Formats: sequence, structure tokens, C-alpha cells
Amino acid sequence: MKYKSTRSDETVSPSYALLHGLAGDGGLYVPVRFPENVLTYDDIKEKTYKQIACLVLSYFFTNFSAADLEAMADRAYNRETFRAETVVPLRSLDTDVSIAELFHGRTSAFKDLALSIFPHLLTAAKKEETECGEILILTATSGDTGKAAMEGFKDVAGTHITVFYPSDGVSSMQKMQMQKQEGGNVDVKAIYGNFDDAQSFLKRVFTDKEVNAYAQKKGVMFSSANSINIGRLLPQIVYYVSTYAALVENGSIGVGEPFDIVVPTGNFGNILAAYLAGKMGIPLGQLICASNKNKVLADFFASGTYDMNRPFYTTNSPSMDILLSSNFERFLYYLTGGDTDKVAAWEKELAETGRLTAGEAERAALTEHFAGDWIDDEETKFVINHTFNDNMYLFDPHSAVAYGVYLKRKRAGLMSGRHTVIMATAHPYKFPSVICEALGLPADEDPFDALERLYAVSAMNIPKPLKRLQKLPLRFTETINKDAMKTAVMETIDRIGAHTERRRGLE
Ligand SMILES: *Cc1c(COP(=O)(O)O)cnc(C)c1O
Repeated sequence: MKYKSTRSDETVSPSYALLHGLAGDGGLYVPVRFPENVLTYDDIKEKTYKQIACLVLSYFFTNFSAADLEAMADRAYNRETFRAETVVPLRSLDTDVSIAELFHGRTSAFKDLALSIFPHLLTAAKKEETECGEILILTATSGDTGKAAMEGFKDVAGTHITVFYPSDGVSSMQKMQMQKQEGGNVDVKAIYGNFDDAQSFLKRVFTDKEVNAYAQKKGVMFSSANSINIGRLLPQIVYYVSTYAALVENGSIGVGEPFDIVVPTGNFGNILAAYLAGKMGIPLGQLICASNKNKVLADFFASGTYDMNRPFYTTNSPSMDILLSSNFERFLYYLTGGDTDKVAAWEKELAETGRLTAGEAERAALTEHFAGDWIDDEETKFVINHTFNDNMYLFDPHSAVAYGVYLKRKRAGLMSGRHTVIMATAHPYKFPSVICEALGLPADEDPFDALERLYAVSAMNIPKPLKRLQKLPLRFTETINKDAMKTAVMETIDRIGAHTERRRGLE
């Protein structure tokens, strides 16, 4: 399997795409020939998550042997990395609605599902592409990716990771998770700016000739752990496939019967993985993109115009506070049937004017599979409160946005009547103060006090890694201006370079 850019016909190997993250022309890598309709229920029935992961990934990483993929999946999906036996357990709210819980990994967010296997894919790729030196992973995070990436990469030989997060754009628990990160190869900096600032900066660094030349001289290569990287995106297909198998097995749907999915969306990576699972043969009905007040995607699905010229809101579902959704570019690529010239022209327009409009043909293709909707912070809290009181189920704010959008569309007669799966992307205890507010409990500053209070009313166990956090020392408390990000990256390159030279001197 070869990969190509969404903006041109430059093709590369899977290992090259994994290592570089972003294509040289600024586009994103996509498989040259997507494996369409290759999966049926018979291929996946009675398989474990690990086995499904090996099967799905074997279509995309043809360069790795079955035994190699199996070893990677073993290390990624086991009882130390995931608390749930089935990795992604399903719960039912009622006969029409299931919840796929994607938050049983080490950092309690769905990012763990891809980021527990991504470091193994990347180190295997590094072995294949022998010319590259030390890898520096640069990651922008809206709260969850950064922590999950650091947990995945901490103390992995030959890799270093630097994370940038918006100082005022993450929950107190998310901040604590990052500030207390362990590992000798990690660095975290808060920035005065938002997620879009951090992500745009990194995209520029990845294609900046001067910075790249400097890094190369020091024996350092950049990569990305954001969902622009195929190593992040493709492993996310797996849980849509496993969810289909689980729905058939528990009798919610029949073999081959389509189901709808609601995905709380920010960077468009998770919902794009659903779309790709559908392309592989999983019977999907409608894919519903759920947004908070930063509803640029919901507006796009309604009007066909993607318009970033609008205020940026800090909401109580911070991991979705994004106006420029990176993976949207891959979506445009598929929407146009792989028209790289059109995608390149759109991306240029978007960069220059902050706006793009899809044509009639694309809009028709769009509404065939997708819909978008949104709810605000007050409605999100209302949903958390009611689902807890009526169904004894505690949603985190992001998953509550998805369920709230489902309820809103159901009331408006817009749901199809098919079985619907809500993708639950984070553990509620990652956002203790919002949950306390929603339940009418005091929401004080200390997130650990809030956790104890939530435990008292819900009897839901506190995940061990969150509990352990309380006793760890603060390590990374620096906040920098966004125009100091380049200097920070240069300093890290120097530090890695000096370290490599020292080691070479000793050998
Ligand atoms: C990252 C994240 C999202 C958004 O996912 P995308 O793939 O960026 O669309 C939603 N919820 C939570 C909890 C997240 O961490």
C-alpha cells in the first residue's frame, strides 16, 4: 500500500507517511487505493479487539508482517493499557441507543486507542527508514491528545515529544495530567493562544525549510502525533468495526443492518475514521457530527460553506474548541472523488479567506452520509444532569454534546429510527468541575475534591491513573507567548542534538 498527498500525486511508503505526518506540499496522506468493501461480519465475528485491530491495520500497513502487527497490538491493547476486558465496551441507554465507551485507556480519553499503538507503528517505521536520526514529535493539543501522546511515547528510545496546549483552554484535570507528566523525553508548554494557533504553528514548522534543515543537521526529524498522521487516524477505524460486531452479538442489530453514529467532533479525526470504516464495508447509516458552540462544522453541513470568520468560544467541552478541523481536508478529498487540484485550490482559499464553499455535487454526496448539529454549554449540563438522574449514566461533557444532539434531532423528527451509537470520548472524571456544576454540587477549584464528591453520589470508581496524579509533583508549569513557540522548538532540537553527540562521544 502506498500513500499520497491530498493536494498532489506525490506518493510515499507507509513508513515515510508515518514518520513525516504531513506531506511536503502541506497536504495530508491518504492511501493511494482505499481498501473498499473488504470487511464482512464473518471476517470479524467472535474476534477480540486485538484481532480486529490486526485485521484492519493489515490493509493499510502492508509493509509490516502479520507477526509484527500482532506484537504491536499485544503491547497496545492489554489489561495494563485498558481497564476494560473488551477495550471498548458497549452500554445501552435504551433499546434504540448504545454508548461505545472509548475512555478506558491510560489517560481516560478516546485518544488512547490510537496513541497506544502509534508509538509501535512509528518505531517500526523508523527501523525501515534507516536514514532518520532521533524523532521529535511535536503535538498541539486541545487537552486530550497531548497527554495520551506523552503516555504513549514516554521513555520510548529514539523519540522525544513536545506538547503545546492552550493555557486557558483545558480543564483543570487535563492541565494537571500534563503538568505532572512523567518520562525523560517529554516536554509540555502552555501557550497564550488557542488550539488553532498551536496547530497552525506546527503545520508551518513541519513544512518550514529552514527549521527542517537545522533539525536535519542536528540529526533530528519531526513527526506528529495529531490526527493528521495516518498512524493516529487509521487505528481509530478499529473501534467502529469492533462496535459493529458487538452490536450484532448483543442483538441490537442484525447482520448487515446499518446503524447511525453520533460523534462529538473537533478536529474531525474520529468521525472521519467512522466514514472510513463504512468504506471498508461496515454498514453505517447516518454519521452525525456533533459540535459545541464552535459550530463551524454544523454550519457547513447545513449550508455547504465552511467559514472560520467567527468568534472562538471557550466552552465546557474544551477538546472540541476548534475552528480549523485538520482532517476536514481528507474528507474533502473523498468528497470530490480524489480531486487533488480541487482540494489544493480549496485549501488555498481557506488559508487566504478563512472560507470555502462546496459545489452542488459535493453537497449531494455530503448529505447522503452526514449531518451536523450542535448544542451549547447550558444544554450540555442539562443533558448530563438528566441522563444521570433518569438513566443512572454519567456522561462527560463531550459525550453529552453527542447525546444532546441526538435528542435534539430526535425531537425534530430528524433521526432515521435506526439503532444509534453515541461515541463516548472521555471519562466524566476528566471534567469534574463541569460535572459537579451539572449535578448541582459545589464545583470548587481542586479537581480531586470534586472527584471525591462525584464518587460519593455516583459510586463510579476513580480511574487509577487519575487518583495517582494527586500525589505526583508538578513538573511543567511554563506558559509562553505563541510567537515563542519556534524558539522553544529550536531549543529542543539543540538539546537533543547535544545529547546525541554526547552519546556518540561515549561510544
Ligand atoms: C479530541 C476529542 C474530541 C474531538 O475528536 P476529533 O477527532 O478531534 O474530532 C472529542 N472529545 C474528546 C473528549 C476529545 O478528546
